[in-house]
Amino acid sequence: MLTSGLSPELIKDIFAAVYLVATLFFILGLKGLSSPKTALKGNTYAMLGMLIAVVTTLFYPTVKSYYWILAGLILGGTIGTVIALRIQMTAMPQLVAALHSFVGLSAVFVAIGTYFSHKQAGELNSTLMVELAAGSFIGAITFTGSVIAFGKLQELLSSNPLIFKGQHYLNLLLGLVMFGFGAHFAMTDSFVSFMVMTGIALLLGFTLVLPIGGADMPVVVSMLNSYSGWAACATGFTLKNNLLITTGALVGSSGAILSYIMCKAMNRSIISVILGGFGGETAAASTAVGGKTVKSAAVEDAAFMLENSKKCIIVPGYGMAVAQAQHVIKELMLVLQEKEIEVKFAIHPVAGRMPGHMNVLLAESDIPYDCVFEMDEINSEFSNTDVVLIVGANDVVNPAAKTDKSSPLYGMPILDCYKARQVYVIKRSMRAGYAGVDNALFYYDNCALVFGDAKAVTEGMIKALKEG
Ligand code: NDP
Repeated sequence: MLTSGLSPELIKDIFAAVYLVATLFFILGLKGLSSPKTALKGNTYAMLGMLIAVVTTLFYPTVKSYYWILAGLILGGTIGTVIALRIQMTAMPQLVAALHSFVGLSAVFVAIGTYFSHKQAGELNSTLMVELAAGSFIGAITFTGSVIAFGKLQELLSSNPLIFKGQHYLNLLLGLVMFGFGAHFAMTDSFVSFMVMTGIALLLGFTLVLPIGGADMPVVVSMLNSYSGWAACATGFTLKNNLLITTGALVGSSGAILSYIMCKAMNRSIISVILGGFGGETAAASTAVGGKTVKSAAVEDAAFMLENSKKCIIVPGYGMAVAQAQHVIKELMLVLQEKEIEVKFAIHPVAGRMPGHMNVLLAESDIPYDCVFEMDEINSEFSNTDVVLIVGANDVVNPAAKTDKSSPLYGMPILDCYKARQVYVIKRSMRAGYAGVDNALFYYDNCALVFGDAKAVTEGMIKALKEG
């Protein structure tokens, strides 16, 4: 209604041009997000793109009334703001999984709503029905898959893989039947077939994600991110909205690329993850520590060894995020550097609970980028390092990933901390990491555990170093 008076062709051209500008901002946003140094700029570009997209869409000629839109904006905006202000950094992956589930569910609802509106208007055609079927089944798989991922990350469900005999045949059968009903729907416009297809897709979301174990969850979250993009893309076709098509495709393809990169970093097969752990079966948790015991060390002992070292590598993990210890870790770095000890940080690609989790926390405490190294860059340095300080990391430093074929971690590259002269691990108890397996490193002769909260222990070390 705000565009009344303009010819339909001109309106179409104006929208296409403005949507193109928004898409360019999204591309610049993605480019910026590819490095921690430019991530803030990237986020700003993406927000600008979204602002342009939302405001432009409000001018769309098909918008008949602003009441519902305003109500949705106020309600959604309020809920989003409250969540964003309250969410802990450690709970981000669950939040991302929950948000993906909403994208999936809305794709299903849009497909059902469009079916009825077009049926009433007598405008259903086979192209539209293929689009509706695609939007609905991708959305449904994304929805239930994300709900399971949320449950696993929030620890409402066990992070162990739920594997049963014949499960891949069941998934294959479900997939074939789902496509069968989808094809029947596209040919006959039968609502029953449409619903049966959607119901099977909902079930597939469960059966594809349940068999994936804790160690592979990062890839699943990024895969679901990709699915939610494709669901939005299919919805864009249904709603004839070019921006939704391009944005959905950008999210879908960047999520798929990220999943591929993560699979490579974790030495996992992407096909195995997409097909619900196909070919990736491993035995349940194993310990393989041969009755050995762990050594524990006092904070002062670890501080003494650090003080007498020439080179130290700090390995942060999920526990650093839980303890919010990044700021005291920065202080520890400064104290050590004052004593002319070389300090480097080693980051594993899946440390923490989301890609780049550790980079974000270290950047938050202003640790210079040139002290922070990715796994491939630093792994060769552990063998000539005096002390490695592991702060709340567990799975990403577990040598069982190299030596124990029965471990769910087997095959995942790790940070080679065990090669250092002395290793200290800060953690609160003997509890396992996310993958639920014992850590062989803790039983190595050159390793000792400093029990306690990462922040409190680090503060203790700083105190001991300053006093010493
Ligand atoms: P882990 O989950 O393997 O281990 C974290 C360790 O931190 C635990 O052993 C815990 O031991 C310790 N910890 C927890 N709270 C504190 C605290 N306050 N102070 C000190 N220690 C603490 O973490 P990693 O970073 O090594 O590995 C990440 C794991 O998460 C991998 O298995 C990865 O696959 C998975 N994952 C990663 C995602 C990603 O995208 N990065 C997403 C989803 C899963 P204790 O309780 O004894 O203190």
